[in-house]
Amino acid sequence: MSMLSPRASVYDAGALPALTEEVELTQALIRNACVNDGGTNVSELPNADLMLAILDGTTADIEYFDAAPGRRSVIARLPGTDSTAPTLMLLGHTDVVPANPDAWQRDPFGGEVVDGFLWGRGSLDMLSYVATMSLAFRDYAAQGIHRGGDVVLALVADEEALGSQGMGWLQEHEPDAVTAQWVVTESGGIPSGTPADRRLGVLTAEKGAWRMAITVRSAGGHGSMPPISASALEKAAEVIVRLRKHQPQIVVTEEWHTYVHAAWDQSVHEALTNPSTVDLVVDLLPESAARTVSALTRMTIVPTTVETSGSLNVVADTARINLDVRTLPGQDRVDVLNEINAALGDLFEEVQVEVVVSGAATRTPPVGPWWNLLQTAARLQYPNARLTPAVSPGATDARFMRQRGAEAFGFGLMSEHFPAAEISTMLHGVNERIDLSSLAMMRTLWQDLLAMFAAETTR
Ligand SMILES: [Zn+2]
Repeated sequence: MSMLSPRASVYDAGALPALTEEVELTQALIRNACVNDGGTNVSELPNADLMLAILDGTTADIEYFDAAPGRRSVIARLPGTDSTAPTLMLLGHTDVVPANPDAWQRDPFGGEVVDGFLWGRGSLDMLSYVATMSLAFRDYAAQGIHRGGDVVLALVADEEALGSQGMGWLQEHEPDAVTAQWVVTESGGIPSGTPADRRLGVLTAEKGAWRMAITVRSAGGHGSMPPISASALEKAAEVIVRLRKHQPQIVVTEEWHTYVHAAWDQSVHEALTNPSTVDLVVDLLPESAARTVSALTRMTIVPTTVETSGSLNVVADTARINLDVRTLPGQDRVDVLNEINAALGDLFEEVQVEVVVSGAATRTPPVGPWWNLLQTAARLQYPNARLTPAVSPGATDARFMRQRGAEAFGFGLMSEHFPAAEISTMLHGVNERIDLSSLAMMRTLWQDLLAMFAAETTR
C-alpha cells in the first residue's frame, strides 16, 4: 500500500478538463432515460447494454440476468487468489425515478454540462456511481493479476421500485452470483465540518419498509337511502385522522446517538438524544431538517391510498387503507401493531390489520476491517477525515445484502463544490446535478479501494 500516498487536496480539483470519460459515460446513462415508475412498461436494457459494452474485453467474468423482459442486471466478477478472503462488491442500480421536465431548470434527460455541473435525473442517484465504479473496475482489471478476495461489480435493475426485478430477484434466483461479504453502494460522502475537522457520512443502516393495509367494514347501501350508522368510508376517514394525530414513540437508536454527536452542534446533543425533548427541537427546525429528525427518531405510519367498494351512488361497505410503514433498527411486527393499536384506540377492535410486505430495518456496525478500509481510502482525498455513521429513512439494495450477512455501507465522495444544501430537493426531486470534481473524486475512490482491498486480502 506504500504507493498510495495522500493526494492533492480537493481544493485543487477545479482545474479538470471539461469532459472526462466518467462525465461522458454518466451523460450517456442519463440520456438513456431508464425510468422506473414501478409499472410494467419499464426497461433498463439501454443502460445495462451500455455497461456490457464498457466492460467488454476485460479479463473479468461477465454475466447478465433478465428478471423479466427488459429488466437486465449485469454482474462482473474478477476472481481473486484466495477463496477464503471476503468478496468485495461495488453495487449500483441503473434505473432512475421519473422526472417532471416542467419543474426543472434543465432537461432532466439531457445530460447537460453547465458551469462545472452535470445535470440530469440519476446524476446523483446513482448513475454517477454506476459510471465511476465501472470505469475503475475496468481499469483495475486491465492491470492484470488480481490478488486477494474476489471483486464483484453489480449493476442491477429496479432498485427504485424496491428491487423485486433487480437485487431482490437475484438474491432469490442467482444467489451465488451476488454473494459478497463487503459491499459499498449509494449515498454518503458529503463533506461537513471544517478542513481541520472533516466529517464524511456513511449510510450504515436503513429503516425498514413495510406495506400494510387496514380494512374497515360496515353496512353499505344505495346512495339515496344511506345507512344510519357510519359508512366504511367515514370510518376509514376516522382511522386516517387517528393515525395522523398519533405520534409513535421516540426511540434513540445507537446510530442516531452516534450521528447526532458527529454531525450536530454540541449545544443540541442532549436535546436530540433525549426522547422527551426531541420534538421540542423538531418544532424549531426548518421543514426539511424537521422531517429528517422526526423520521429518524420514530416509526412512521403513513396512509397513502384508500380503495373502497363504493361508487358514485353506492355507499361502500368496505374500505381498505394502504399504509407505508417505516421502522427503526430493532423494531419488529409487534412494535408496529402496538403503535397502530395505540393510534386507533377503541377502533382497533373493529378493523382488520394486515401485513402485505414485511421488511425490517437493517444495520451494519461501523467497525472492523471493511469500515477501516473505507476510511483509509477516503483519507487519500480528504486527509484526516472521519467517517460518521448515519441511518437512511429510505430503503436501498444494501438491505438485500445485509439480510444475507454482508457488511454494507452507503458511501461515495463528494467535493466541496457539491450543493449539499439542496440534496433533499434533488433526490427524487428537481434539478438533480453533480459537480464534475465529485465525479473525478468518486472514480479515484473506487480505484483506491480496489487496490487497497487486494492488498488487505492478500496473505
Ligand atoms: Zn438510488
